[in-house]
Amino acid sequence: MDHIRTTRGRARGNGRAGSHPFLGKRIVVLTAHPDDEGIAAGTMYENHKTGGKTFLICATYGEKGKSHLARPVSDAALKRIRKAELREAAKVLKVDEVRFLGLPDAGVKERSRELFEKVMRAVTRIKPEYILSFGPDGMSGHLDHIAVGAAARRVARKLRIPLAAFTRADTGPHSDERRKFFLDRRKFGKYARTMPEYRKGDIKVAIDPAIKRRALRRHVSQFGTGDPFAQLPKKVAAQFMGSEHFIREDV
Ligand SMILES: [Zn+2]
Repeated sequence: MDHIRTTRGRARGNGRAGSHPFLGKRIVVLTAHPDDEGIAAGTMYENHKTGGKTFLICATYGEKGKSHLARPVSDAALKRIRKAELREAAKVLKVDEVRFLGLPDAGVKERSRELFEKVMRAVTRIKPEYILSFGPDGMSGHLDHIAVGAAARRVARKLRIPLAAFTRADTGPHSDERRKFFLDRRKFGKYARTMPEYRKGDIKVAIDPAIKRRALRRHVSQFGTGDPFAQLPKKVAAQFMGSEHFIREDV
C-alpha cells in the first residue's frame, strides 16, 4: 500500500494487458445506484480496450434519487427509466453484462442478508478474477454504498477473489468546497453521520474523459441534458476526469 502503481504504455497509458492488477481481466464492478458506475467508468472502458470483460452489478434501480425529469414520475416509472439509462451508459463503456439485484433504493443496508446472497450467486456464476466496489467510506458516505462495499468484501473473502475499493485522487483533509458539496448532497438520501475519510489509492487507471462524460450523459433523469459534471465543483470534476483510483484490499 505504500506506492502508487501507475502503469504507462498502450492507448492512454495503462500498460500491456497482464501488467496491471485487473485491467485486461474478467472483472465485476459492484455498485448501488445507476450513475455510481461513473466512479469506475473510464476503468471499465480501459478494461475492454485491454481485452478484459466487465460485469456491472447494480444493487438498486435508483428510484429514490432526485429526478431531473420535467414531470414527476412514480417510483415504478423511474425504475424503468434508470434501468434503461444505465444500460445505455454501459453500452458506451463496452460493459459485457449489466445485472440489477432489484433491492430498494435507500434501503440496501436493511436488506444486507439478501444483498449478500444475491451478490454471492452472481459472482459465483460470473467467476471474475477481480472485484471492484466501494470501501468503508462509501465514497460519498451513502449508506447503500457502504452496505454494497461490505457485501463485496464478504463475497470476495468467501470465494478468495482479489478486491479493490474505489477511492479518490484527492485524499487528505476536506477542503471547504468539498465539505459543502457533501453536506448539500445529504439532502438526497441516507448518509453516514460522519464525513467520509479517504484512503490513498495504490492503483491508478488513466482514463479517457470524453468516454466517461459520454456515458454519464446517458443518465438524463439524474443530470438533465447538460454536462453531468456541471453540478460538481470544478476541482472535484477535474479529479474525476483524468484518472480513477483504487485501493487493493486484503481479503
Ligand atoms: Zn450511489
